[in-house]
Amino acid sequence: MKIGDKQYSLRFDSKQWSGRVDSISRSLLQWYRNQGRDLPWRNSQDPYCIWVSEIMLQQTQVERVKEYFHNFLLRFPTVFELAKAEEAVVLKYWEGLGYYRRARQLHLAAKKIVSDYDGKFPQDVRALQQLPGIGRYTAGAIASIAFDLPEPILEANSRRVLARLIHFDSPLSGGKSEQPLWDVAASLVPRDGGAGAFNQALMDLGSLICRPVSPFCNECSLVDHCQAYQLGNVDRIPYMPKRKSTQKLEEKAYVLVHEGKLLVVRRQPGEWWEGLWDFPRTIPENMAARGPQRHQGVISYSVTHHKITCQVLSKMISQRPAVRRHKRWLLPREIQKLPMTSPGRRIARLAEKVLF
Ligand code: SF4
Repeated sequence: MKIGDKQYSLRFDSKQWSGRVDSISRSLLQWYRNQGRDLPWRNSQDPYCIWVSEIMLQQTQVERVKEYFHNFLLRFPTVFELAKAEEAVVLKYWEGLGYYRRARQLHLAAKKIVSDYDGKFPQDVRALQQLPGIGRYTAGAIASIAFDLPEPILEANSRRVLARLIHFDSPLSGGKSEQPLWDVAASLVPRDGGAGAFNQALMDLGSLICRPVSPFCNECSLVDHCQAYQLGNVDRIPYMPKRKSTQKLEEKAYVLVHEGKLLVVRRQPGEWWEGLWDFPRTIPENMAARGPQRHQGVISYSVTHHKITCQVLSKMISQRPAVRRHKRWLLPREIQKLPMTSPGRRIARLAEKVLF
């Protein structure tokens, strides 16, 4: 089958495919008009809102993003407000959403849009991809939804729909392995208006109908075109190579207390949660501890493919040595205002309950 100027050995032949393109687009758009999701960021064509929502949606469920999107836009209503904010404030508004690198890159990109483009988003996918944190998918989403440019997108939901549609059964492990699906997406996206709606329709169909397990094929507007359905291979496609197995780790976290204040440390570059505050995982050598070490509880959390069990211990510190900028002695109410890692926030609650 030929897609664009490339030849692929897929089950459609080129003639069949080009004969179906219009029908697939039409069916999908009609379904979307009646059944598409009503999401807060869908009421806007402002590239800033679309960009913020797309970055939040990476690795995060829609329902969770809804909670954060509203507050984030209230605090940073424009790219100018975001660019001039302190990084710590941006992280605070991201706290609990996870994958904090996204927030730091969003902030850096906002500064670049203000300094290099006068606060106006470039209307070109190549220029968009030069901005921190904007990859091929996000650039395509901004260009198609905000500027109605015929740019394709490929993310988890649309990838699944397209792979099933053309019975693409090769392993999908990112990068070049996904190029055929990018080409299919590009061949389908309407050139004469409606690119943004089409891309959003594809994502919605993947989310609501073409689910990873037990898709609702009987309700699907693309069923007549779907090769995986017709060949009875829906459960096998897309073929994703196995993820890394989970690694179990154990660690200790310390609540060090001096005159009602607790020691917190800021995560450094190269560490998980860079820029966020947390409790130390060791007792600094220059601190003189007094009294017994107390067991405050155990928390468990996951980061990437690690599952971590953390024992929380507390210790009184008799003398408080000077600490560097990435460490602070703070009252619990001051700690509440810091952007914190999610285990750090749980340790703080545990410490408050038991110590005060
Ligand atoms: S027919 Fe089934 S597998 Fe094919 S696109 Fe529709 S929901 Fe997905």
